[in-house]
Amino acid sequence: MKVFVINCGSSSLKYQLFDMKNESVIARGIVDRIGINESYVQIETEKGKYKIVKEMPNHSVAIQSVLDLLTDRKHGCIENMSQINAVGHRVVHSGEDFNTSVKIDKSVLKIIASNVELAPLHMPPNIAGIESCLKSIPHAPAVAVFDTSFHSSIPQYAYMYALPYDDYKNYKIRKYGFHGTSHQYVSQQARQIFKKDGDFKLIVCHLGNGASISAVKNDKCVDTSMGFTPLDGLIMGTRSGSIDAAILEYLSKKTGMSLTQVVDYLNKKSGVLGISGISSDFRDLEQASKDGDERAKLAIAMFVYRVKTFIGAYSASMGGLDMVVFTAGVGENSSLIREYICYDMEYLGIDFDKSKNTSAIRGSIAEISSDKSRVKVHIIPTNEELVIARETLKFYK
Ligand code: ADP
Repeated sequence: MKVFVINCGSSSLKYQLFDMKNESVIARGIVDRIGINESYVQIETEKGKYKIVKEMPNHSVAIQSVLDLLTDRKHGCIENMSQINAVGHRVVHSGEDFNTSVKIDKSVLKIIASNVELAPLHMPPNIAGIESCLKSIPHAPAVAVFDTSFHSSIPQYAYMYALPYDDYKNYKIRKYGFHGTSHQYVSQQARQIFKKDGDFKLIVCHLGNGASISAVKNDKCVDTSMGFTPLDGLIMGTRSGSIDAAILEYLSKKTGMSLTQVVDYLNKKSGVLGISGISSDFRDLEQASKDGDERAKLAIAMFVYRVKTFIGAYSASMGGLDMVVFTAGVGENSSLIREYICYDMEYLGIDFDKSKNTSAIRGSIAEISSDKSRVKVHIIPTNEELVIARETLKFYK
């Protein structure tokens, strides 16, 4: 039973082929620079890595080139397409139309297309990927797994913005939340680590280049920091996170940027990159901070402070806390950021263990709170592709 997982971005496509017998990855790779010059397709299997540079004008050609490589005698891992039993697509936005993953048919595709406006950069490539696979692998059920669906359990008082109610009804303006497959995977792992059934109050800190934090009460998401778009909430690599909405008009007047340009500026030029003026990558910021760069120090301090305020807010909103989990690039790899975030959190019941934190093994689950800590702190590596493969498997008959 083999599941092909696809994540189509605007100019790239990431894929993994899973053998669901033991959930192992038998091939993974990327097509990059789709629609740009020097595009290439890459595959990694037990035979090693292989890359072909070739023109890739659109997603359809990109997907066909992946399928050709998967079935390639020398570099591939399957004999023919019939060995792909199902295809799981990462789809960024479900709007309010789906609160779980869904098997794709014509009517589902139409509904997905009706939500393009909610994520105009991400949805067109997602849809292009689905359409190309339906053509090239027509025998395999195709399943859409949404970034938003884990957050569909957020109660209305938490997902509404205090705009006139009709804006919600007419324009679908509300908090949706993103990174849902990651928050879902990590919460399920956390529940297993917690061992007990019943009441479980968890905060998941997904800290990557994009960053979001979720409050998960009894296995259901009850709040998350990203909002109508992934721009909201935490300070990120290049995104500002939450800011006073009035800044948009002020900035536009001061700089002459259009509203569209201002939003682009908040998405691509802000965050820790904008503050530090150095990099969006925390490895660079940590180094610069060690070297005494004041703005790198400020960027890290602001990032940490924002995470702390969300942990406090979500503990209050859930009426307590049992566990905090760190995941994604920064959360899994930066012992410094984890330590700064957990500093001075004894009031919440966190007794952080610095030596466990620094000795945690990369890529593994690790407890980084002391044995006597009332609130547990763990690192749990995320695996969004595996969630998509598991969700897809549910629809395979
Ligand atoms: P995304 O999926 O949002 O692109 P990732 O979850 O892959 O992001 O995280 C990438 C980020 O993780 C990098 O930009 C970098 O800031 C951070 N990162 C990766 N490794 C380390 C490390 N060893 N120390 C600090 N930060 C790291």
